Amino acid sequence: MAGTASPEFGGSGRAGRPSVGVLALQGDIAEHVRALESAGAAASAVRRAEELDRVYGLVIPGGESTTIWKLIDIFELAEPLRKRIADGMPVFGSCAGMIMLADRLPDPASGQQTLGGIDMTVRRNAFGRQVDSFEEDLDIAGVEGGPFRAVFIRAPWVEDVGPGVEILATEPGAGRIVAVRQGRALATSFHPELTRDWRIHELFVEMVRDGA
Ligand code: GLN
Repeated sequence: MAGTASPEFGGSGRAGRPSVGVLALQGDIAEHVRALESAGAAASAVRRAEELDRVYGLVIPGGESTTIWKLIDIFELAEPLRKRIADGMPVFGSCAGMIMLADRLPDPASGQQTLGGIDMTVRRNAFGRQVDSFEEDLDIAGVEGGPFRAVFIRAPWVEDVGPGVEILATEPGAGRIVAVRQGRALATSFHPELTRDWRIHELFVEMVRDGA
C-alpha cells in the first residue's frame, strides 16, 4: 500500500507523484529539484532528519563531497541517512553524490567519510585537471531513446565494483565506469540535472514508485 505523503511536501503517495527529497546542504540542489519535478516527482529540500522521514527517495546532488560530508556531520545526518539507505530507500547520487554513495574512497580528504550504499571504489577528481569539464554522448543501460549527453565537471570515476553492482555506462575514451546501480541505489559520475534530458531522473522516480 502506498504511504501517505505529508501535505507539506505535496505528492500523492509513492505510486503517483512521489515525494522525493534532495539533500540540500551544498551543491546543485535547485537543478535536481527542477529535474525531479519535470520527471514526475514532488521534490523537496532535505536538511533535517524529520524532512528525510517524509520522502520516499533521496537525491544527493553534485557539489563538493568534502563539504557535503562536513555538513552531514555537523547536522548529525550520517546515521539517519545510512539507516534509510540500508533499509532500502531509493537513492540517486550525481558526481559528489556518487562519491557519497561509495563504500570505498582510495583518496579521501582528511577526515572525509561517505555514507556508502554501493559496493564500489570511487576515485575523486579522477578525470584530471586538464579536462576538469567535458561532455560525452553515452549509451546508458535502462535509458531508452538514444545516447545521453553527459556533463562531467571535476568528475569521479568508479574504479571497481562488487558482484552485486550493475554497470550502466562507461565513457568511450578509456572505458571508465561512470554510471552504476545496486538495488535501489543509482549513481552517475556526471550531472543529468544540468541538461534538459530528464530520462535518468525519470528512471529514478520509477525506482521510487517501485520501491516497497
Ligand atoms: N570533485 C568533486 C568532489 O570531490 C565533485 C565534483 C562535482 O560534483 N561536480 O566532491
